[in-house]
Amino acid sequence: MIDEKDFLDLFIPGPVNVSNDCRQKLVLPMIAHRSETMGELHQDIASYLQKMLFTNNQIIMSTSSSTGLMEGAIRNCVNKKGVLNVINGAFAERWHKIAITNGKQADTIGVEWGKAVSPQQLKEKLDEKEYDAVCITQNETSTGVTTPLKDLYKIIKDHNCLFLVDAVSCAGGIEARIDDWEIDVYLFGLQKCMALSPGLAVASVSDAVLEMAKTVPNRGLYFDFLDLKKYHDRGGMQPATPVIPIYYQLQYQLHKIVDEEGIENRWAKHAEMGDYARKWVKDRGLTLFADESVASDTVTCVNSLGLDVPKLKSDLMKKGYLLATGYGKFKEKNFRIAHMGDRTLMELKTYLQTIEELIS
Ligand SMILES: *Cc1c(COP(=O)(O)O)cnc(C)c1O
Repeated sequence: MIDEKDFLDLFIPGPVNVSNDCRQKLVLPMIAHRSETMGELHQDIASYLQKMLFTNNQIIMSTSSSTGLMEGAIRNCVNKKGVLNVINGAFAERWHKIAITNGKQADTIGVEWGKAVSPQQLKEKLDEKEYDAVCITQNETSTGVTTPLKDLYKIIKDHNCLFLVDAVSCAGGIEARIDDWEIDVYLFGLQKCMALSPGLAVASVSDAVLEMAKTVPNRGLYFDFLDLKKYHDRGGMQPATPVIPIYYQLQYQLHKIVDEEGIENRWAKHAEMGDYARKWVKDRGLTLFADESVASDTVTCVNSLGLDVPKLKSDLMKKGYLLATGYGKFKEKNFRIAHMGDRTLMELKTYLQTIEELIS
């Protein structure tokens, strides 16, 4: 049986620690998913997500991990012209795998890991061929890179493509202005930068997406955006039973972020933690895996330079912390410092101080 002693302070890029007050929301009694109360809860969450994301676009919610909504985005937005996937890391690769396994025509732009695609690279590729959509990972969690969407959206729109963004490890922590940046799908799960329990994924979806979906055959059932919208329009309903306790949590967290903390202050908090982590890395004589100009404010990927990462991980575990190693093929070559969600600068400082004592 899982017990108190099994829990560690999660310095990994998801799932992250959930605050005590958010955790309390999970124990509220159950309500009927077709009730008026559920409808009001759904609609309130949708309106707060619109505020948080600076958008008037339709909000959809899916009881699935974020990958489910990525699959939904591909199924609803990609028709005969296919999709262009910008690949600069392991999560960006997932866009491409989803497109291929759904039988979609898909091309890629390969970008060196640790870097972001340049506007020039993107423009050249889009000049060559027409696509229905372009997929980008705003914050590549495997390498600690944030792609500057602001510099890319005009190029994507000039080429008549839908702009699909995976914001799983940055939504709520790094600037995003959905309407200003003309982002057609902006999707994320809640277990990373939103600091909630896993199980619900959300997205903003533009009118252009809904129009496109009408023309795409075989969108499937569970992630059909038109079906999700149809139910949403019936007073905030869902086609299937949603993960109701996480709605309680999300409503609470969104009110806190939007009404109390302020979304721009939350971005600033993450920028401060990002700056601190990067300076710490350099001051220790270590190096950043990412190009510093595009280094993420929610996760810092560090080249371990011969440091024994498995040993560091087990030493930290004895102190109650869970370290994130490098992702996939970089398991022993890097480690990652997650500074996202409700994490504070003070907690980050204490953690880095602990690492310092262990490695010096
Ligand atoms: C974690 C992560 C995912 C996958 O999210 P799930 O909720 O586990 O499906 C996708 N993209 C990025 C950038 C991530 O960090």
